[in-house]
Amino acid sequence: SGHILLPLLFFSFTTLLKAHHSQGPGHILCLFINNQWQDAASGKTFPTINPATGEVICQIAEADEADVDKAVKVARDAFRLGSPWRRMDASHRGLLLYRLADAIERDAAYLAELETLDNGKPYAVSYTVDLPNVVKFVVVFRYYAGWADKWEGKTIPIDGDYFCYTRHEPIGVCGQIIPWNFPLLMQAWKLGPALATGNTVVMKVAEQTPLTALYVASLIKEVGFPEGVVNILAGMGPSAGAAIARHMDVDKVAFTGSTEVGHLIQQASGSSNLKKVTLELGGKSPNIILSDANMEDAVEQSHFALFFNQGQCCCAGSRTYVQADIYDEFVERSVERAKRRVVGNPFDLKTEQGPQVDQEQFNKILGYISSGKREGAKLMCGGGVAADRGYFIQPTVFGDVEDNMTIAREEIFGPVMQILKFKTLEEVVTRANDTKYGLAAAVFTKDIDKANYVSNGLRAGTIWINCYDVFGAQAPFGGYKASGNGRELGEYGLDNYTEIKTVITRNKPFI
Ligand code: ADP
Repeated sequence: SGHILLPLLFFSFTTLLKAHHSQGPGHILCLFINNQWQDAASGKTFPTINPATGEVICQIAEADEADVDKAVKVARDAFRLGSPWRRMDASHRGLLLYRLADAIERDAAYLAELETLDNGKPYAVSYTVDLPNVVKFVVVFRYYAGWADKWEGKTIPIDGDYFCYTRHEPIGVCGQIIPWNFPLLMQAWKLGPALATGNTVVMKVAEQTPLTALYVASLIKEVGFPEGVVNILAGMGPSAGAAIARHMDVDKVAFTGSTEVGHLIQQASGSSNLKKVTLELGGKSPNIILSDANMEDAVEQSHFALFFNQGQCCCAGSRTYVQADIYDEFVERSVERAKRRVVGNPFDLKTEQGPQVDQEQFNKILGYISSGKREGAKLMCGGGVAADRGYFIQPTVFGDVEDNMTIAREEIFGPVMQILKFKTLEEVVTRANDTKYGLAAAVFTKDIDKANYVSNGLRAGTIWINCYDVFGAQAPFGGYKASGNGRELGEYGLDNYTEIKTVITRNKPFI
């Protein structure tokens, strides 16, 4: 049970704190710059909170512009021509990534505990279900480790007596700003391709969930990455995050987070040095259930599509479109399933749903639930707070949702399901596309022609057919429209970290 885990948790946490030269939960975890643990230049710290209790776990050094400057300087130095990192064989870069994957796998159980403590996601999910997933994000490192010495340019037959080839070169110093909903996974998605291709990194982790990323920093040092190649800062978005986005000596910024901040990142690039920008932003993904679908399976998958990770997924299936003739039964079964969802202590192995990540998200979600009621959606279950401390919200289902309601248009990022009714395929594709977003979508049907029609018609970066939230290190992920630009994962993910250099040599005609 969860109680058995707690001493282990305490033991491991103490070990972590020791690793950072601290002695207890009142102490400070530092910034990771140039393979050293450093205090913030300002000396400021902020608390990180356990969302299940609202209690402070420990203090974190709070980076701001001065620390970003420091990190960019060492990352630039690590990138200079002739540096150990630039001179390293590509295969050796791959080897370091393999070693990092091994170290993470060795400590995976501990990392899963730390993630649950800081983020609130159920330990049973992070350990028993997600452990394959933890291994999956280890897989992300291994996948990109393999690419390090296989990212080949071309020889190109241009006209004339010339020899033309391309080199795939690293972009340089990459700023990476990541969110709190999948801290370890997002770190892997960003570091894997950046390091395989030979860039250096200044990463800012989310202020809500800095613990696992800082632990991984200690592993980065342990496995032997040269100084300055990876720098990991915790700090606030408008200070540390914005300092990266507008920095004149950062060559590229990769951001995952809200569409609102995505606009700011793009603007900051535009008004500074036109650094390259890749964005993975919000969504309001349609999940379409046709009347011929397997009902039991569609209900379970749609429940998962929305409620997984406390509803805190950019690709959550948050507009569930159900065909009219099965609508009533689908709603009834979905409500029954949501009522059975086990909410509670994330360290209890029976728990399916833990707390939301923080007070701000908690308040925002409750605000959306009120707006749903006010605008006339039918509250079928839930709708309130689920515990007297921590940020727990009841699994909530709204029926009779209309396309123009706020809960059908905006990203809620919480355990709140919207079910909408439709009649024809043409109609549902048009309605599903009527959004500024285009991250993901799904369709449930046994009819291959209908599946093809819907999946070809939807404007979204990933389409799932008879499944949801299936990811692979090998398969690209990213958004159409305001859901972002660029793709992460897979071979396509390498493009975002590569400058293509064309080299043309004159061949002296030999007669
Ligand atoms: P959410 O609303 O889900 O927390 P955000 O987009 O605010 O999503 O946060 C994602 C990441 O972006 C976090 O690391 C956060 O600190 C950072 N961030 C927030 N505001 C800014 C900003 N103005 N500039 C750069 N980064 C920011």
